[in-house]
Amino acid sequence: MEQQEKHTPNQEYCFAIARPGKGTRVFRLKKQAALALCVAVLVLLGGFAKFAYVAYCAKQEQQELLTYRAQYARQEEKLQALLAENEKIQKSLAQVASLEAEVRRTLAQDGESVSRGNIDRKSRESDLRGQGGPGKFGLQNLDVVAMQQKNLAERIAFKNENLGNMLEQLEQKSSVPNLWPTDSGELTSRYGYRSDPFGYGTVYHDGIDISGSYGAPVYAAAAGDVEEACWNGGYGRYIKISHGNGYETAYAHLSSIDVHVGRQVKKGEIIGYLGNSGYSTGPHLHFEVLVYGRTTDPLKLLNY
Ligand SMILES: [Zn+2]
Repeated sequence: MEQQEKHTPNQEYCFAIARPGKGTRVFRLKKQAALALCVAVLVLLGGFAKFAYVAYCAKQEQQELLTYRAQYARQEEKLQALLAENEKIQKSLAQVASLEAEVRRTLAQDGESVSRGNIDRKSRESDLRGQGGPGKFGLQNLDVVAMQQKNLAERIAFKNENLGNMLEQLEQKSSVPNLWPTDSGELTSRYGYRSDPFGYGTVYHDGIDISGSYGAPVYAAAAGDVEEACWNGGYGRYIKISHGNGYETAYAHLSSIDVHVGRQVKKGEIIGYLGNSGYSTGPHLHFEVLVYGRTTDPLKLLNY
């Protein structure tokens, strides 16, 4: 198709369309009609361009929507995994809470309080925080996960502190003498047969010897009642403590005694001072552990 345009003096435009084998067809249009035709063509072209652009945008948006849906599905999957993980932690924490309650009962049987710093109360309260419903407040899963994790972190912190306190109290109450009785760690003689320090053959050593500075503090290896606190022949200045459950400890060759008979002592309390009194070659602590009246190797019990 061929299109021609001519400008005529009477303000008319001629359009000739050559049709192969059928001659030429001429259209005459006045100036205004020609302008209207041009505008119509431009409007048509503009509309087509706009339609093409909208179609392109729609395609893009559809692609983005698909990508977003895939991302959303992955995020949702991760959220569900987090919620499931939180549930597992809740179950483990329930077991810890059950053990905590058992320790609490054990302490309470002996009239011990576990409410130091209100941590025990806070720990118990943290077990009762469970609330929820159909989500009428519009909480999204992410908010639920965040809140659960915050509560879990707080509960774990409370239980950690509370169980630490209770363990310390149980340890304090324990009749097993396992606290190293002086600052020095210099073990100079073990429990059992040994050569007599003064050269009188082989003798049985009923305890252990820890050498140390003269006047260094000597500590009660467990809580208990002072049974003896006096000079005791070759033992020199001597203290014996009864801890219950058949356990007793003895501390010999002291330079001075800081307790009297009948006194209740706490674990780790200073009861006297290291010395060289009695049958001793130099400043040291002779330490004995007795179980139902018979000596035993203190190193089996001490944290050495
Ligand atoms: Zn000794």
